[in-house]
Amino acid sequence: SNGGVAWSRGPLLGKGGFGSVYLASLKNPKSRNGYYPPVMAVKSAEVSASCSLQKEKEVFNCLNGCPFIIKCFGEETTRNEGGEMFYNVLLEYASGGTLSGLIKKSDGVGLPELDVKRYTRSILEGIYYIHSHGYVHCDLKPENILLVSSSTKAGEFVAKIGDFGLAKKSEKRDKKRKIDPYLGGTTLYMAPETVANHVQEPPCDIWALGCVVLEMLTGKQAWDVRPDFTFEELKRKIGDGYELPKLPSEVSKDARDFLKRCFVANPMFRFTAEMLLDEPFVSGVDLDGG
Ligand code: ADP
Ligand code: MG
Ligand code: MG
Repeated sequence: SNGGVAWSRGPLLGKGGFGSVYLASLKNPKSRNGYYPPVMAVKSAEVSASCSLQKEKEVFNCLNGCPFIIKCFGEETTRNEGGEMFYNVLLEYASGGTLSGLIKKSDGVGLPELDVKRYTRSILEGIYYIHSHGYVHCDLKPENILLVSSSTKAGEFVAKIGDFGLAKKSEKRDKKRKIDPYLGGTTLYMAPETVANHVQEPPCDIWALGCVVLEMLTGKQAWDVRPDFTFEELKRKIGDGYELPKLPSEVSKDARDFLKRCFVANPMFRFTAEMLLDEPFVSGVDLDGG
């Protein structure tokens, strides 16, 4: 029912704020000229409500050269049986689901440190690529890190960054920064400067990475709070950078050192993605390019 790539919609993979993600299979895998994989994920929204998904597609387009970012294969508009129009973005399929799902399966104890090192290295490479291209992801959390099966190692997964729905262009340091009064994203992964001053610049992604790494290592979120914890409460707690997440004692010194570099309250002194790539926790990790 569409003029572009012929694919059929499979089961629902996930639901988000504005649309749904489904499995998509090519109707005729032989005719794909090697461009489209036989299965993809399709992120779909009603055309009338697809503005932010269209913006997200533009960001995907700018970041398509990194093996640690979900690939985007194109966009299409389709019509369903009821005549409603849908805007679809065709994405690389993550058969391992989300990092959030994997952490939940660990039953609150966390993942083996060797796996955490590998996932951290991939996410960090992805963040470095995003920042080098002038973007800030602004919504890094385990639900937005996807696990794609490795093309070289059977049974192994590569962590890739997805969901660019809240990504922003980073402002030049010398320009007067516009403060965005609207803050999306999950409060628990927000940096102190975002909570206090609504700043969303590259160091915010590094703080969120620290929260994600801590969660992989311990199986628990960086802040131990009630489910209905509010933004105002977080502001009182960390807005001035008084309180930092507690570092786990049962992990290696390299892991703790890595976390310390991420959880620097002042964004000026927080490590950048480039600096973190040299940290002992991840510097020796050998990734096979996705
Ligand atoms: P939202 O902006 O609405 O949060 P996401 O892009 O994060 O949308 O997708 C919502 C959920 O759909 C994800 O948390 C994940 O469970 C699933 N999902 C998204 N992209 C993929 C993909 N490429 N492969 C497999 N599952 C995916
Ligand atoms: Mg999401
Ligand atoms: Mg989103």
